[in-house]
Amino acid sequence: MTLSEITAGAKEWLDTLALEKNVSEQISKGKACLYCGKEIEQPATGRPKKFCSETCRRRWWRVHQTI
Ligand SMILES: [Zn+2]
Repeated sequence: MTLSEITAGAKEWLDTLALEKNVSEQISKGKACLYCGKEIEQPATGRPKKFCSETCRRRWWRVHQTI
């Protein structure tokens, strides 16, 4: 492995970290889906959405269900 390859790998890893940080930031602001992290188009009126779709909402509840 060459130095440039290592640097490229490290940059990729940092990009992933930055992306994850950004996604969790978006989620905490209610701008991204709680389940998949996809950006949510919030309705102008009414309650803000937490999930991008009904599928994600159901999956999230399945994961977080405590029986
Ligand atoms: Zn989603």
